[in-house]
Order: sequence, then structure tokens, then C-alpha cells
Amino acid sequence: LDHQLRQTERLDSLGRLAGGVAHDFNNLLAVIIAYAADVGADLGPEHPCQPDVERITRAAERAAALTRQLLIFSRLEPSRPEVLDVNQVVADTEHLLHRTIGEDITFSSELAAGLPPVVIDRSKFEQIVVNLVVNARAAMPSGGRLTITTRSSGNGRVELIVSDTGVGMTPEVASRAFEPFFTTKGPADGTGLGLATAYGVVTEAGGDIGIDTVPGRGTTMTVTLPEAGRPAVVSALDAPGSASAAA
Ligand code: ADP
Repeated sequence: LDHQLRQTERLDSLGRLAGGVAHDFNNLLAVIIAYAADVGADLGPEHPCQPDVERITRAAERAAALTRQLLIFSRLEPSRPEVLDVNQVVADTEHLLHRTIGEDITFSSELAAGLPPVVIDRSKFEQIVVNLVVNARAAMPSGGRLTITTRSSGNGRVELIVSDTGVGMTPEVASRAFEPFFTTKGPADGTGLGLATAYGVVTEAGGDIGIDTVPGRGTTMTVTLPEAGRPAVVSALDAPGSASAAA
């Protein structure tokens, strides 16, 4: 519990720092993108420096996308919790998920009927679902099975489970996966903010995220949220057999 508290404090202060920087950074990037566009227009389409101008623009746009992720992560983007149906969110994101997944992956979803509603910011929760699926997809470079399951745990909690048959995580990676900026992907592919953001958003909503992973076999990520009107999930006492976020 002590460890968990320290971890949370560390995430909070890192988040505030990152968010403060991200805000100023966004303004600077807007200046770079605007002037690059001016220079590109002045040079004209045939100028030999045009490809360099485009590189500047692409790099600045990528930095802007990263900055947006930082703002969500740092919780400077205010949360607007609403009562929502987890199944509906999965259904709403499914077209996006299908595009991400690709043909070498067998996708299935098992959505429980009569699932009680939860209370969480809709767009942030959608982002979490997408991030979990993107991670699962990335863990299966030569194909596999990806499953999204929802269920009511019967004790006032709703679970969203994203499961893959991918590379899995070593204990070292699993223990650091929620750390901001921790990534095993290259700098062009990973920000290391996906799970850190998910952890922040889910715990803010009174929930928890667990990792169950076996190297070479696959990974199951379980997001647990309290049913609307029910008390928060106390992570240290819950989810036996699955590593809790700060474990
Ligand atoms: P990113 O995806 O940008 O690296 P995340 O915070 O989403 O950042 O994930 C951190 C790390 O956790 C990943 O780099 C990867 O090593 C590991 N990871 C996350 N999800 C999975 C998964 N489904 N299977 C295997 N490893 C994963």
C-alpha cells in the first residue's frame, strides 16, 4: 500500500510537470507549424528545400499529437464524468478498432447483456479502449487472437477485459508498464503514455487496472470500474491473481 501511494504521488507530480510543459509547448509548436507553412508557400512547390519544410511540418505535427496525449495524461484536460454503458463505448469504437487490428488478427467481442452503467469521461474512456487494443495489436506482429470481454463481476463492479495472444511481458516490463514514458517500442512508435494515462483516468473514476501476462503466451488487461452509484474499487484488496497497477 505504501508503495502504491508513492507510485500515485510520483505519477501526480510528473503529470503536473508534464502538463505545464505541454501547454507552453503547444503554443511554440503552433508558431513552428504556421511559419513552416509560410516558408513553404513563399518557396513555391518546385523549390529544392520544399521536402525539408515538409519534414519540419511533419515533426512539429507529431510533437503536437504527443503534446495532446500529455495534456490528457496530466489531467489538465478536465474530466466530464457521465453515466455510460461500457458495451456502447466498445460498439462506438469498433469501426476504429477494426481499422487498427488488420487481417492477421482474429477479433471477437463478448459483451455481457444487461451490464450496469459506470461513471467516467466518455472520450477519455474511448481513448483507453483504443490504447489497449493498439497495444494488444502491437504485441502480435505475426497475428493472433484479440478478445474484448465485458462483464458484471456481481459485487458492484463492471469489467472490461482486453486479451491478446501476443508476446506478453517480462516481470520487469509488467512492473514498469504503467510508468509514464516507459516504452519498449521505438521513439517513433511508442510514447509510453498509453497505460500511464489509462491508469490515471481509471483511478480517478474510482476503478483499477490489472495486468495478467505470460511471456510468449499473451496478455490480459482488466479495467475494473464501480457501477454507477457504488463505492470505488479498493485495488489492494481486490483482483486476486492479477498484478494491480502499482504492484
Ligand atoms: P506505448 O504503447 O507507447 O509503449 P504504453 O504505456 O501503452 O506505451 O505501454 C507501455 C509498454 O507496456 C509497452 O511499450 C509494452 O512494452 C508494454 N505493453 C503494453 N501492453 C502490452 C501488451 N498487450 N502486450 C505486451 N506488452 C505490452
